[in-house]
Amino acid sequence: MASPQITIVGGGLLGAAIAYGAVREGARVRVLDQDDGAFRASRGNFGLVWVHGKGTTMPDYVQWTKQGLRLWPELQQELFDLTGVDSGLQQPGGFWLGFSEAEVEKRAETLEKINESGGDVPFKIMDRAELKHYLPGLGTSVVGGSFCPLDGQANPLMLLRALHAALRLKGAEIVNDVSVEEIKYDAGNGTFRAVARDGQSWTSDRIVLAAGLGNADLAPQVDVHAPINPTRGQVLITERLQPFLDFPTNKCRQTKEGSVQLGSTAEYVGFDDGTSTDKIEWLAQRAVETFPALARAKLVRAWGALRPLTPDGYPIYQESPTFPGAYVVSSHSGVTLAASHCYVLGPWVSGFTQTPPEFDSFRGERLLDPNASFSNGY
Ligand SMILES: Cc1cc2nc3c(=O)[nH]c(=O)nc-3n(C[C@H](O)[C@H](O)[C@H](O)COP(=O)(O)OP(=O)(O)OC[C@H]3O[C@@H](n4cnc5c(N)ncnc54)[C@H](O)[C@@H]3O)c2cc1C
Repeated sequence: MASPQITIVGGGLLGAAIAYGAVREGARVRVLDQDDGAFRASRGNFGLVWVHGKGTTMPDYVQWTKQGLRLWPELQQELFDLTGVDSGLQQPGGFWLGFSEAEVEKRAETLEKINESGGDVPFKIMDRAELKHYLPGLGTSVVGGSFCPLDGQANPLMLLRALHAALRLKGAEIVNDVSVEEIKYDAGNGTFRAVARDGQSWTSDRIVLAAGLGNADLAPQVDVHAPINPTRGQVLITERLQPFLDFPTNKCRQTKEGSVQLGSTAEYVGFDDGTSTDKIEWLAQRAVETFPALARAKLVRAWGALRPLTPDGYPIYQESPTFPGAYVVSSHSGVTLAASHCYVLGPWVSGFTQTPPEFDSFRGERLLDPNASFSNGY
């Protein structure tokens, strides 16, 4: 079989992971990406590699996420061996922390529900005394929480850098500063043409739309329903501190380098990726209530970034029903699922593997029901 030529629109965590997964299997890969002013969730996220609490209404998503966590160490090692870049993976388990008994009870119910529908995600509900054993600096506002031994964290910027370095080393073509506006299909020879705003175009056997928020405009051109909207997350980062937090939590995490990341908000403010003092104050206050020693830490940076989010929060992985060879991919867990995107989606979009049966759940049509009301988990 001749090696397929694939164009991937979008060089964020999804596009880069899928591109690397394709090129390592022998596909000829080209990535088209915008300029540095583009919206890029991949450069502004919280870095959790996380399953517990996810997938309350979609059992297939729980299994898909667990598979992603299992495959991560292989990706971390492979990228390190190839590029020398450490993606910073740590999987010591992770804590969700609650400020009220009611919140913790609700959390326990959610986790039980996930497991009743076949999730099989190990977790333990802990009271404050037990939590303190693992998180000695815990503040008195935290009354309880949940722990899952599968969870962890990574360095999203280093992961993105490692993926791009690996792509270059494997001979993929990366074209920056182009904004794809049109996808054209040539029925005569079954090829796709990606046409950019400046008139440049690229032809290939297959095309993957991994353009984050840009997929909202591009996906309909290949007849895939992908209503993707921005949800802003603001995040704060402290100066580097002595190690005090051995586990990532839902409210803050300490990086390998020592800085503490505090996050994140979920706001519906359209395409505004700025920051606001009220949210910065809220995040800082919440972090200090969680770990009072943070009151002495200096904040060095705050940023906002836009999550590309479907109405129900679950991903879309779908081949076009009208134009076989065109794929739409979107997920708001691009760090957690990086290894699945690489090792499962890469070969799939290359045509080397069949569509995994669970991908029926991830088709965009599920979001077409005009009477349905969706909750995206934020
Ligand atoms: C605050 C915050 C916290 C988060 N926390 C976590 C977390 O803890 N764990 C986790 O797993 N995930 C987290 N995420 C989500 C994660 O960041 C995203 O799932 C992931 O970055 C999505 O990657 P992407 O490649 O689809 O999108 P993006 O990173 O947005 O990349 C899309 C790319 O496509 C390009 N593009 C767009 N349109 C076009 C076009 N027309 N032509 C060419 N190129 C185009 C853009 O330039 C961009 O490079 C978080 C996100 C945010 C914002």
